Amino acid sequence: MREPGMRLNHWIDGRAAPPAADAWIEVHEPANGRLLGEVAAGDARDVAAAVAAARAAFPAWSGLRNSERSRWLERLADALEARLEGFARAESRDAGKPLRLARTVDIPRAVANLRFFAHAATQFASEAHHGEAGLNYTLRTPLGPITAISPWNLPLYLLTWKIAPALAAGNTVVAKPSEVTPWTATLLAELSGEIGLPPGVLNLVHGRGPEVGEPLVTHPDIKAVTFTGSTGVGRRIAGLASPLLKKVSLELGGKNATLVFADSAWRDHLDLLVRSAFQNTGQICLCGSRLLVERSIHDEFAEAFVERVRALRVGDPADDATDMGPLVSQAHFDKVIAAIGHARDEGGRVLCGGGRIDRPGWYVEPTVIDGLGADCATNRDEIFGPVATLQAFDDEAHALELANCGDYGLSASVWTRDLGRAHRLAGALRVGMVWINTWMQRDLRTPFGGTGASGLGREGGWEAMRFFTEPKNVGLCLENC
Ligand code: NAP
Repeated sequence: MREPGMRLNHWIDGRAAPPAADAWIEVHEPANGRLLGEVAAGDARDVAAAVAAARAAFPAWSGLRNSERSRWLERLADALEARLEGFARAESRDAGKPLRLARTVDIPRAVANLRFFAHAATQFASEAHHGEAGLNYTLRTPLGPITAISPWNLPLYLLTWKIAPALAAGNTVVAKPSEVTPWTATLLAELSGEIGLPPGVLNLVHGRGPEVGEPLVTHPDIKAVTFTGSTGVGRRIAGLASPLLKKVSLELGGKNATLVFADSAWRDHLDLLVRSAFQNTGQICLCGSRLLVERSIHDEFAEAFVERVRALRVGDPADDATDMGPLVSQAHFDKVIAAIGHARDEGGRVLCGGGRIDRPGWYVEPTVIDGLGADCATNRDEIFGPVATLQAFDDEAHALELANCGDYGLSASVWTRDLGRAHRLAGALRVGMVWINTWMQRDLRTPFGGTGASGLGREGGWEAMRFFTEPKNVGLCLENC
């Protein structure tokens, strides 16, 4: 693993490539604000080189047997697993996340993504239809070079979630990770070189969204765009890609509700409920940042919840005892602090936290806010930090009304012992994913994604394999032909 002071290059056509403009962007360590290194500031010339490499590699890669592509992904997974600790340390320093989390969640999940889609490559099959109009079979062919644009909150986890199915289905990839957290993506690209992955199959272009992301989205040889990030940027990408009639998958923001009913075993699940709001410093799209609590238990719940939140150990990500690290950047810190100030202006009661932590780095106290209605900005806009709100509801209908309030529709969790109610709500919640008495338990075969302002399309399992392939139906006459 390289040390700070490093320069992170693009990865194009199987080797490290400096930026055409010789321009660099500073990368900082969230836990202390210090300079960690520099990353290439790419532009359209770097994009053109990477897309040309991906295009040249496509015929051979897509022509491999599925089992051969599967083995390449397995090799990459093996190599990553062998270096898990180094990757975890890099991710922790780059993103400010607790090393424990990077070691037990982020990097193992990146390995799992690669392995899962290695298996998918050999299991994905075409459909056939007969008995109505001759015999029909549907070919599913790879699209060509595709781009994967990913955010900073789960850098390697989300990058691999995109590139693994794209490669498994036979596409070649030009990825653009967030320039805020470029370290592990670069290490993974280097690892692909070490295992001998054919040049051009996986390329990486670093840089800012407008300079690298947009040229990628609009490049005529890029056949599909898979994007995870904010709703605003997702809209911009949709606007650029739509006239070009490109396939687009958008995994966007969330403002997820956690519905806690009086009959639930909430006391037994307090740790998980706290985690669902504050894991990764609240910087997970699936975090339950709006806790809706049945009025009869509201006060008792608020007291117990706040007590657990206060007990969170916020500190050095490298310390195994740390539960919560800093926010990812100065810009994001400023945004979260402003949102807390706005919540106060709206009349919110801060039950705990509410400010910065006086130490180097971008630390914000875990914050719980009560007393705000469903229509205020604090309960509608994504904050994406360690800030959770409480709202009381009277009955099931009221809980549903509050949960479905707002533009986002990513996920929700329902906490109740009443099975009928759980299923009724699961059906009625306007979201892409519902958990009942749990949170973020992920089966990689299931459709992942949201509705409304939370995105378009689904990833995961066959959904991803279908997204990354073009169906072509072939109909055969079976009579006297
Ligand atoms: P972001 O600002 O939208 O950036 C995401 C990626 O898009 C980054 O690589 C970014 O590059 C790039 N980008 C920015 N402007 C672009 C443009 N005009 N054209 C093409 N690409 C562009 O999001 P973020 O702040 O990194 O991540 C946080 C957001 O992601 C939150 O809203 C969160 O909810 C969402 N998210 C959603 C999911 C999900 O599965 N639904 C999962 C995780 C996160 P730069 O680094 O240069 O800005």
